[in-house]
Amino acid sequence: MSDENKSIHQFDLKLIYEYYSTIERQGPGSPEITIKALSFIDNLTNESKIADIGCGTGGQTMVIANHTSGHITGIDLSSIFIDLFNINSQKLNLQNRVNGIVCSMDNLPFQNEELDLIWSEGAIYNIGFERGINEWYKFLKKGAFLAVSEASWFTEKRPVEIDEFWNNEYPEIDTISNKVAQMEKAGYIPIATFVLPENCWTEHFYAPQVSAQEKFLRKYLGNKSAEELVENQRHEAELYYKYKDFYGYVFYIGKKI
Ligand code: SAH
Repeated sequence: MSDENKSIHQFDLKLIYEYYSTIERQGPGSPEITIKALSFIDNLTNESKIADIGCGTGGQTMVIANHTSGHITGIDLSSIFIDLFNINSQKLNLQNRVNGIVCSMDNLPFQNEELDLIWSEGAIYNIGFERGINEWYKFLKKGAFLAVSEASWFTEKRPVEIDEFWNNEYPEIDTISNKVAQMEKAGYIPIATFVLPENCWTEHFYAPQVSAQEKFLRKYLGNKSAEELVENQRHEAELYYKYKDFYGYVFYIGKKI
């Protein structure tokens, strides 16, 4: 690949980060659902060490911080997101126990059996669910928890259009029962799984994008990459409204044996 292509690719990525930095969440979720998932976790103290992997700008991290008392490390590959994460943490006066660092989820800076909780909302797909839950296992203490949300099929069979879309975007999407089996195989007790309600997509993810898209298109008037990015997001939202009976995000909460 030529350098020219590489720089175009980097520019695209910068655009993607800029686009998502204008909205509070970079994936489907809500404060209520973060709190619900937290309610299954019963081992946390002031001394707890928590990692939020693929934390983005920290929408869910600040909710976790307000409902726990330990130390939280946010991990994300994007320095744009991590800068905003640390600004958000300071604004809420949480900087003494909530810090973001730029790092890849396939090369985490933790010791074996260091963590009491690994959190990851809408991000583990970046290395794949099965690889992620297996690789991260060693960082958890015995009896510690993993809580991740992941795109999942609700049915065994679904319409071709949505099946093809997801198999192209993320072929590891699978049924809830298959994901749970993967957790068991990796050594976790499946403590809970639950489907994220539709408002995590509609109200908290797609609705804020509507005005963000208009602003973004005004700023990048005539820019093909920006137009394509928005077009892509709009298409994804349309598919969600059309096929939301067949897929969604599911929270998987496991405990290390
Ligand atoms: N948890 C946030 C963000 C989800 S979007 C929320 O729910 O709002 C997915 C995030 O994963 C993005 O912030 C993206 O920058 C990050 N990401 C992508 N690849 C990554 C990697 N290899 N390591 C760490 N973070 C990664």
